[in-house]
Amino acid sequence: MPAQELSYDLQGLSAEFESAAPQAVLRWAADTYGENLAVVTSFQPTGIVTLHMLSQIAPRTPVLTLDTGLLFPETYALMEKCERRFNLNLIRLHPAQTVAEQDAAFGPELWTQDPNECCRLRKVVPLDQALQPYSAWVTGLRRDQSERRANTPIVSWDKKHNNVKLCPFATWTEAMMWEYIDAYDLPYNLLHDQNFPSIGCWPCTNAVEPDAQDKRAGRWANRDKTECGIHVGNL
Ligand code: SF4
Repeated sequence: MPAQELSYDLQGLSAEFESAAPQAVLRWAADTYGENLAVVTSFQPTGIVTLHMLSQIAPRTPVLTLDTGLLFPETYALMEKCERRFNLNLIRLHPAQTVAEQDAAFGPELWTQDPNECCRLRKVVPLDQALQPYSAWVTGLRRDQSERRANTPIVSWDKKHNNVKLCPFATWTEAMMWEYIDAYDLPYNLLHDQNFPSIGCWPCTNAVEPDAQDKRAGRWANRDKTECGIHVGNL
């Protein structure tokens, strides 16, 4: 769907949603896109809150998650817990190659030699393919997560995926997410209790100092890389 064919002004809509609750954004998205709406989550706190809210608004919304084959056991356990608790319509996305096949093709531990290529193969390409049928997708990006994400709009045209990208929690803070999780007694990744504020694949995720300002500082630590590439072009 080309951006110019949209019958509404995404920038104006995004500005209107600045003061709206995330539920209002999710309800609008579900009403507008119906079965052409998907959620993409890696089961971080914002994802858990999104799934809880959507379970009351549009419970059969497809939930896409990237299973790179390199996630922490705690993440796989949480995935299964959420699938049961929210009765998710969960779609696990797998890369074309297993980790062993990738090792054989590119050499062992591609993430140490070329993390951009590793992320492209294991995350970016599978998600690009999976998003093709959808007119809109919901992500958990928040402005407080990093400098790079500080200007994240709530609604925007995603040139890369040729659809509408929604970030209903762009204005929320880390503290607000945890308040919501506590209030509803929602499950969360137990690694968060061990100073892992942002959790991805185990080879590229470290714990951070307890008072770290950049919540993504533990991702690809000591490398000039801050994003896997999924959101590049829209930040
Ligand atoms: Fe590979 Fe690391 Fe990216 Fe995971 S986060 S896909 S291990 S480079």
